[in-house]
Amino acid sequence: MTPLQMVDLKSQYLRLKPELDAALIEVLDSTRFIGGPKVDAFAQNLAQYLGVKHVIPCANGTDALQIAMMALGLKPGDEVIVPTFTYVATAEVIALLGLVPVMVDVDPKTFNITADLIEPAITSRTKAIVPVHLFGQSADMAPIMALAEKHGLYVIEDNAQAIGATYTFPDGSRKKTGAIGHVGCTSFFPSKNLGCYGDGGAMMTNDDELAAKLRMVANHGQSRQYYHDVIGVNSRLDAMQAVILDLKLRHLDEYNAARAAAAGRYDEAFAALPQLVTPYRDPRSTHVFHQYTLQVVDGDRNALQKFLAERGVPSMIYYPVPLYNQAAFAHYWKGGTLPVTEHLCKTVISLPMHTELDDQTQQYIIEQVFLMMNDK
Ligand SMILES: *Cc1c(COP(=O)(O)O)cnc(C)c1O
Repeated sequence: MTPLQMVDLKSQYLRLKPELDAALIEVLDSTRFIGGPKVDAFAQNLAQYLGVKHVIPCANGTDALQIAMMALGLKPGDEVIVPTFTYVATAEVIALLGLVPVMVDVDPKTFNITADLIEPAITSRTKAIVPVHLFGQSADMAPIMALAEKHGLYVIEDNAQAIGATYTFPDGSRKKTGAIGHVGCTSFFPSKNLGCYGDGGAMMTNDDELAAKLRMVANHGQSRQYYHDVIGVNSRLDAMQAVILDLKLRHLDEYNAARAAAAGRYDEAFAALPQLVTPYRDPRSTHVFHQYTLQVVDGDRNALQKFLAERGVPSMIYYPVPLYNQAAFAHYWKGGTLPVTEHLCKTVISLPMHTELDDQTQQYIIEQVFLMMNDK
């Protein structure tokens, strides 16, 4: 058996190899490496898939968040509300721009921020909210959008982990995550649900004026060549990544279905272990399972991770430390603890999850978890 991996990119590549290699050679032959028709085609196809008017590609997901905040005109001292249980990039760009990250707790079932948790954190300086659709499931966006409208706030979706997920509004209408807020941001890091073979990212919006600003900021603040209206950055997706993404986009629904099927098999097996809590399925969102994250509510999470590692099963702790306990963010914190985030940081463990998980591999992983859990 080849060593187990959290994410098996090699097997996925081999299935696409003939088409992918041909597409890459075409880019090499064209020597149109930056920008150009391949990048535009991918952006258009992604916009169509997401049901959004504009997709603006950029260099990575972190840049997407930063450019979004710059294009929205956020100014030093403005407060931006973020979950404390997230990847650091979400809050990092806020601090980098001189804005103030205001960290709030998350819902114990979905691991996402909710309107109820956000509202008490709103002050006269609040300008934006960044919901993160953590692990592949949408935050409950209808109440968040209503709250934002009431207070005149921007909503910047961090959709790096949930591309392809669908949110259902109370009236039954549905939208893809990333297409709900004023601007959506995503990452095409190789291990994301739609990943390239390098770095990549994108922003999405239905607002024509904002789309123009996002493009401008991503391209040195230039409105036309060599005329620079605002201070911008240099952040672009290259054509090689674009053709890879365009090809993989055609398989995204099938990839997400394979992840959901694997998650279903884990769920079914772990239902027999009361020490574990399996991922909650919010009826308002589909779940694209960027991660399959268990909570060890009775037992030693770290011992489980060690036991699995000894038996060749990789696992990850996303995330071990609340944002406010990170040294870089401590001075933004008023003190105290947020109970749900603290609990999650101590109990969560993510198992291998990707598009190529077969029954036999998964059975092996499940057996090892049972061995440890039944042994106590
Ligand atoms: C991956 C990720 C990012 C950053 O994306 P990069 O492409 O690595 O810069 C931001 N937010 C979340 C929640 C992520 O998972």
